[in-house]
Amino acid sequence: MMRIGTGYDLHRLEPGRRLILGGIEIPHEKGLSGHSDADALCHAITDALLGALALGDIGSHFPDTDPRYKDADSLELLRQAAQLLRANGYRVVNIDTNIVAERPRLRPFIDAMRTRLAEALKLEPGQISVKAKTNEGVGPEGRQEAISTQAVVLLESS
Ligand code: MG
Repeated sequence: MMRIGTGYDLHRLEPGRRLILGGIEIPHEKGLSGHSDADALCHAITDALLGALALGDIGSHFPDTDPRYKDADSLELLRQAAQLLRANGYRVVNIDTNIVAERPRLRPFIDAMRTRLAEALKLEPGQISVKAKTNEGVGPEGRQEAISTQAVVLLESS
């Protein structure tokens, strides 16, 4: 039995916040705003894992009205989603993701993100793809008002 899930996220960029993507802090003059650490890549993957199992979404499992998740480490949410999928008898085949950000340049951080995500999910880095692209200067990502992310996951019953 195989199942597929998709996830999408977008957070606004604002001054005075840290920029964290895939569990890695990236030096930049702005960061992503949000109740948690606003790691949009972890959020998209968490949503894809929950979606593959039709188990709701990140907001239903980790509500942003809950003070427990204020400034939460989003890798921890990802760990919990991975535990849930193992408890449901599934394992991850592979994960593919996109980050849409005009700046900063993310390529130097991609392998560190893959390693960090793999650790959180108990996978090999070879099972996780992270791709970064600009938005050609248009739209909220292109105007550097926001960073968006997309994830697709494939699960198989273990
Ligand atoms: Mg989010």
